[in-house]
Amino acid sequence: MSNWTRDFFIYLSQNKFLNESAKKWGFRLGAEKFVAGTTIREVVPVIKKLNEKGIHVTLDHLGEFVNEKKEATLAKEKVLEMLDVMHNENLDSHLSVKLTQLGLDIDFDFCLENMKEIVERAKEYGIFVNIDMEDYSHLEDTFNILFELRKESDLVGTVVQSYLYRTADDMEQLKDVRLRIVKGAYKENDDVAYQSKKEIDANFLKLAKQRLLDGKAFTSIATHDHHIINELKQFVEENNIKKDTFEFQMLYGFRQEMQYALKEEGYAFCTYIPFGQDWFGYYMRRLAERPQNLQLIWKDMLYDDKGKVKRKPVAALAIMSIGLLYLSRKKKWEKAS
Ligand SMILES: Cc1cc2nc3c(=O)[nH]c(=O)nc-3n(C[C@H](O)[C@H](O)[C@H](O)COP(=O)(O)OP(=O)(O)OC[C@H]3O[C@@H](n4cnc5c(N)ncnc54)[C@H](O)[C@@H]3O)c2cc1C
Repeated sequence: MSNWTRDFFIYLSQNKFLNESAKKWGFRLGAEKFVAGTTIREVVPVIKKLNEKGIHVTLDHLGEFVNEKKEATLAKEKVLEMLDVMHNENLDSHLSVKLTQLGLDIDFDFCLENMKEIVERAKEYGIFVNIDMEDYSHLEDTFNILFELRKESDLVGTVVQSYLYRTADDMEQLKDVRLRIVKGAYKENDDVAYQSKKEIDANFLKLAKQRLLDGKAFTSIATHDHHIINELKQFVEENNIKKDTFEFQMLYGFRQEMQYALKEEGYAFCTYIPFGQDWFGYYMRRLAERPQNLQLIWKDMLYDDKGKVKRKPVAALAIMSIGLLYLSRKKKWEKAS
């Protein structure tokens, strides 16, 4: 996808008005293909179906733009409820959380206290907690919270992004920590991050290989990229790396056949399942990554379930207006720079 299209969808993902409005729309724009439901109860059968096939699951209750303590407290309550359900239903699953949803943008200590409560409950149940990595401005705080939490439980880990120059150094400090390796989903400047796919992919392979050879803690290799997956499968064979030291991870709704195939080939596999009403930002980041998903949007915007043209394509108009605003601003920015 061209850079401006990617930038456009990342811009939409960060638009507060659209994120807030989308909560009221219900699932639209084809999002239901990538977001498993709105409540934990709706998602339990999806998890059970994957578990029956031997696939582990990581569960994320979606949430963006949390700027008030009461919203963060509500998010924490939801996560605690998720943990209870995961335990009571005996689901083969762990938790993924974003610190901004738990108050990181409000106050570091408040977020830490929320996380302590979550980690304590998860420890009681023996459930692993993964802290997702967000944009670069949150990276240091994320590591600081991780290290604080690990004083109380080993069942906490995080994510490293291969687009950041510093990741190899960070991983030196994280050898004992369970990690997920990803390419990185946010827009970062070239003073901190590689910009080209070639460099990001090469760094991903370098980091994953080094980590698998070190073998000190469990690793999740999170990508839909079959070139990378195939090269790592070969690397694992050649270096006799034990298959219980790592897993492949993909997002719910992506490359389903490949997810099953990897499991059948004897690799540990985990599907990342997002759910909740706050689907817009997550979905826009997925569109930024993959242009083919766009056809879902156009279909949903223009046609109803019976294939008839919608009379009031409100969502379409909102997105198009924001798109035009973005493009006009972009031209100004380009002229100014
Ligand atoms: C489980 C999981 C957790 C994540 N957690 C985080 C996180 O905490 N923080 C963060 O910043 N990012 C996270 N990400 C997102 C990640 O950083 C990337 O933005 C995202 O995975 C896209 O990169 P990719 O490696 O999957 O494939 P891309 O680089 O987008 O694609 C590479 C190639 O793979 C093929 N391909 C990709 N998708 C498909 C498809 N659906 N069908 C057919 N072919 C396809 C195509 O040939 C494509 O050219 C996560 C991703 C996953 C899978």
